[in-house]
Amino acid sequence: ETITIKAGDQRYPVHVGYGILDHLQSFLESEYPQLTSILIITDETVGELYLEELIHAIGYKQIYSKVVPAGEKAKTFEVYYDCLSFALEKKLDRRSMILSFGGGAVGDLAGFVAASFMRGIPFIQIPTTILAHDSAVGGKVAINHPLGKNMIGAFYQPVGVFYDLNYLTSLPKAEVRSGFAEVIKHGLISNHPFYDWLKEQVESLDATIPNPLMIECLTKGIKVKARIVEVDEKEAGVRAYLNFGHTLGHAIEAEVGYGKITHGEAVAIGMVFALQLSSQTYNFEFNTTEFIQWLKHLGYRTELPEGLSIERLLGRMKQDKKSYGQSVRFVLLKEMGQPIVSEVADEFLIENLEIFKRQGG
Ligand code: NAD
Ligand code: ZN
Repeated sequence: ETITIKAGDQRYPVHVGYGILDHLQSFLESEYPQLTSILIITDETVGELYLEELIHAIGYKQIYSKVVPAGEKAKTFEVYYDCLSFALEKKLDRRSMILSFGGGAVGDLAGFVAASFMRGIPFIQIPTTILAHDSAVGGKVAINHPLGKNMIGAFYQPVGVFYDLNYLTSLPKAEVRSGFAEVIKHGLISNHPFYDWLKEQVESLDATIPNPLMIECLTKGIKVKARIVEVDEKEAGVRAYLNFGHTLGHAIEAEVGYGKITHGEAVAIGMVFALQLSSQTYNFEFNTTEFIQWLKHLGYRTELPEGLSIERLLGRMKQDKKSYGQSVRFVLLKEMGQPIVSEVADEFLIENLEIFKRQGG
């Protein structure tokens, strides 16, 4: 299946399916006949598993590859600088192309390299994780600063996304859960019965991935993201809804430590908390107990990890670049599929965090 993303005056295809790389070759031939060279940026894990195969499949003469550390370690200034040096050494020019090959971390890094190298050269996303159904679409690219995640970046759309689901077979279970949390998020914030459908259909994440159900989940998720990006490419409004569960999620991720909890697993906890706040603030009637049971059944933690200080979490949330001024901004739900950005006063937030912490026991 091919989904077209419209962002500003740009349009690009997201190809989802098996053996998508045939499309890649013909795409390059037809859209970029003047191409001079290709730089693949991938991480150690994905590189080890699939790089040779990819290079072979592209069958292009001038291909270079840069292998970076796996996970959040890819998104540092040092690695970013390394990639730029490599690109200059290999004499990439304005007619070169960058292929990002890996999960969201590699995608964010490679996209930012592409956005800034010679003021921007085209790039293609070849996502290899479930999470990347989200991160590879929409054009947000970034690296981290010691003072905050994703603080240095750009809006820079890829020219195409080639999502070959065969890659998902080697994904560890925790990464499956991580990515699936974003699918659940897409369900909760979207306007149609996607969430109900998800909850009814997905009883476990243990089945071999990819399976037909997971593919349907991913395609639906991409479409939700596509619609949001289409109306708000630069996050002036509704794009903020995609941060549902992320305000506390990011704080948990940073406090527990990257690599110790996955992004999506932290976001799952963040979503439970955002739902608690939603019912307190908007009388949003939602069966949170059932939601929590479902999440647990899928293998998620739904409570605050032990030992986290509320004061520190609050500090993290205030640092989040999505919070302007004093109070912390949360995406809450007024009703199913009806997100709203809401300023939450410190006292109310602390009170709720304390309740949430007690529930964790
Ligand atoms: P990731 O790229 O770190 O991948 C997770 C782990 O899985 C890594 O260790 C990686 O080596 C491994 N892996 C990747 N593909 C594999 C495969 N096919 N088989 C086996 N192992 C594989 O992270 P992620 O979870 O894909 O993405 C998280 C990142 O995405 C975060 O940095 C987050 O900030 C970013 N993100 C960006 C956006 C966006 O809009 N740009 C949206 C959401 C998340
Ligand atoms: Zn996320």
